[in-house]
Amino acid sequence: MAKYVELYTKAKMPILGLGTWKSPPGQVKEAVKKAIDVGYRHFDCAYVYHNENEVGRGIQEKIKEGVVKREDLFVVSKLWSTFHEKALVKGACKETLASLKLDYLDLYIIHWPIGFKAGDDLFPTDEKGVIITSNTNLLDTWEAMEELVDAGLVKAIGVSNFNHEQIEKILNKPGLKYKPANNQIECHPYLSQEKLINYCQSKGITITAYSPFASPDRPWAKPDDPSLLDDPKIKEIAVKHNKTVAQVLLRFQIQRNVVVIPKSVTASRIEENFKVFDFELSKQEMKTILSFNKNWRACTIHVCTSLKDYPFHAEY
Ligand code: NAP
Repeated sequence: MAKYVELYTKAKMPILGLGTWKSPPGQVKEAVKKAIDVGYRHFDCAYVYHNENEVGRGIQEKIKEGVVKREDLFVVSKLWSTFHEKALVKGACKETLASLKLDYLDLYIIHWPIGFKAGDDLFPTDEKGVIITSNTNLLDTWEAMEELVDAGLVKAIGVSNFNHEQIEKILNKPGLKYKPANNQIECHPYLSQEKLINYCQSKGITITAYSPFASPDRPWAKPDDPSLLDDPKIKEIAVKHNKTVAQVLLRFQIQRNVVVIPKSVTASRIEENFKVFDFELSKQEMKTILSFNKNWRACTIHVCTSLKDYPFHAEY
């Protein structure tokens, strides 16, 4: 059985979930169904992935088949940046719920700490190719997120891609009603995130590691970029345990009490990625893997890098 990380709300978040970014319509429904059959109970979704409708169909079919109940599942989605205005947050959440065919989310997170101009263009840019921001501020958006909890639409709220200063802003908000339960960040041995993880965990905020394989299918990958799944030193550790590199990368996060959400639409890999509860990395192996850090990011939003609130300019 999968293990859990407990949120401060006392909810149990399965430590392993299925990622769905880039999972194509036409394949993602089968991926979700396969994952449920294998034992996954946590699904990581987002409005901006353009596939929530089909993810929802996969979930519904498994509920109808009697394989799982809604309450057995932990479904996460994300508020996209064009919906940061207070007046837009509830509508965005309801649209996601309708697509997923659910009446509540277990966790709803602010996808990215910068608000974009509202409208149909999800990445509105100016003539220089820089994102057109909205004049919203994170604290107002956070209040609207808190209202979703009170309205019963979501069980918990959190953030994603926030640096520790941006989290601190929320924690110090006058009249804060609910603190973030989770920060979802890119994390793998080339971006080990020790400082941000320690900071969040010290505040009772759980971490989800996204792109645990360093997102080899990201659309902007270049041939010379580092290839984590081919790392010979991690391969060495994997061979010792009779496991794959992918399994070691997932186990590494689990042993740090970090939730991890590998994406796959391949049945055999969905299964492989779930077989990570039957071995243990030694303390020395964990230390060795941590030493591979090079603060290398697979995921940036390049149209935002010149903005002052770009989260990855800060050290952590
Ligand atoms: P990832 O999980 O690091 O890597 C996915 C890639 O690895 C796919 O090409 C997949 O191929 C391949 N793969 C999966 N299992 C494998 C295995 N056992 N052996 C070899 N290759 C394997 O990348 P990601 O999609 O960027 O990150 C995971 C999830 O995190 C996303 O899907 C999304 O839900 C979330 N995320 C969130 C944010 C955010 O801003 N909050 C950003 C990025 C990602 P196949 O699918 O073809 O099998």
